[in-house]
Amino acid sequence: MATEITAPIAMLHDVSKCSGCRACMVACKQWKDLPADPTPFDGQFQSHKELSPKTYNLLIMKEYYRHGRLDWNFLKYQCMHCGDATCIKACPSKALYKSDSGAVLLDEAKCVGCGYCEAYCQYQVPKIDKERKKSTKCNFCIDRVENGMEPSCSKICVTDCISFGSLEDMQAKAEARLLVLKKDFPMANLYNVRPNNGILGANMMYILTDAPATYGLLEDPKIPLSITLTGGAVPEVPEGGLGAKVSPVHTAFAGVVVGAAVGAGVVLSSKLSKETIDE
Ligand code: SF4
Ligand code: SF4
Ligand code: SF4
Repeated sequence: MATEITAPIAMLHDVSKCSGCRACMVACKQWKDLPADPTPFDGQFQSHKELSPKTYNLLIMKEYYRHGRLDWNFLKYQCMHCGDATCIKACPSKALYKSDSGAVLLDEAKCVGCGYCEAYCQYQVPKIDKERKKSTKCNFCIDRVENGMEPSCSKICVTDCISFGSLEDMQAKAEARLLVLKKDFPMANLYNVRPNNGILGANMMYILTDAPATYGLLEDPKIPLSITLTGGAVPEVPEGGLGAKVSPVHTAFAGVVVGAAVGAGVVLSSKLSKETIDE
């Protein structure tokens, strides 16, 4: 029987252990029953340029030349489940909310597909399904968590670089790991470990070996000024929504695109079955 989660949970991606295999992407698609999202190959290894209504989890691959050879910075990119979430403030329908678990969740029945969450999120995470006129994004696999399982993506990770557990445990794990990594990676840092930034941290946290910008992350995420000035009061939308048509004014406040590295390739195929990611 499902149990509502009332204590904060968190996910931690330790990029120093990530092999870039993208099993987490496949596991997310499998659990969410999301179809393939084909993209043309244009010479880069990253599979998609950005998240989409069919892709809630994307392995960002930033390419660099280091010590005379090609190297990557990998980052698992999905909803950050922000401590102070812009999408919640921007939603005129109060469809998005921060649950007691810390996960930022969507009440689909209330969502009118207006696209304000997509326009305002600093991380450009929510994507509007234009057919259904509903917002889409990672929900921390709350259905699994409420049934005693960990999220699909962390369960599948072959290098164990994605951890999931209580917020307290994940913070302690991050701090301990940082001390170890600092010896070999002087630039190593913790990202979103609260309250170290303008969004009061987040329940999706990272251990980075390099500066946040080298992964495509905002160095200092903040609630957009437009939201702060209006107290989150964005215009009411008519019943039925605007079908993801957002004015250029709102789009202008949308912030910096994360994961805008040139993507290529097709969605990974997988031999993994749903059973393999289930307990
Ligand atoms: S990353 Fe974007 S969609 Fe996710 S909680 Fe933060 S503001 Fe909302
Ligand atoms: S599409 Fe509009 S109604 Fe739906 S969650 Fe986003 S802001 Fe709220
Ligand atoms: S927590 Fe679930 S929905 Fe979110 S990225 Fe992982 S598998 Fe996808």
